[in-house]
Amino acid sequence: MLPLIFTLITLPYAPNALEPVISQETIEYHYGKHLQTYVDNLNKLVAGTEFESMPLEQIVAKSQGGIFNNAGQILNHNLYFLQFSPVAADNHKPQGAILEAINRDFGSFDAFKAEFEQKGTTLFGSGWVWLSADKDGKLVITQETNANNPVTKGLKPLLTMDVWEHAYYIDYRNRRAAHLQSLWQIINWDEINRRYTE
Ligand code: MN
Repeated sequence: MLPLIFTLITLPYAPNALEPVISQETIEYHYGKHLQTYVDNLNKLVAGTEFESMPLEQIVAKSQGGIFNNAGQILNHNLYFLQFSPVAADNHKPQGAILEAINRDFGSFDAFKAEFEQKGTTLFGSGWVWLSADKDGKLVITQETNANNPVTKGLKPLLTMDVWEHAYYIDYRNRRAAHLQSLWQIINWDEINRRYTE
């Protein structure tokens, strides 16, 4: 089998399209430098190993150490960057199956957002807060440290906020809570619903 070459995802929007929530400068560093570095590192680390022809989710489930850290961060950032649309888009409120599940499992969209922000704000150090679905379609919010992803718990990841400082320090400095609160303005709920129902 030929080795897989991991590549940087293409963003479905221009680098300035998420302003003022996420600046072009943050995209240039976070996507253009941090994510590119994880991709370059993983390609170097997997060469000649059993992981070089595995999809990312499988690497994350089976690896440890540097390979796990870089594969996990690529999987996390791919899901993160592909879940956004510009502020002016009309898909920033959940609809359909995902809205029904949010109302069922959290009581309301506002109650869900409050719990999600609280779990993102209180995660100590670097990591990610996730909305995922279990095998029965029930929604759960989890905190994952460093490069971890809910796939390692058997969950299907749907939506995430990156609470590593590199995600918000250029635009928000130390104000993590303000950054998380602003991200709702650019979440593409059509994409989250697609992930939930696929
Ligand atoms: Mn990041």
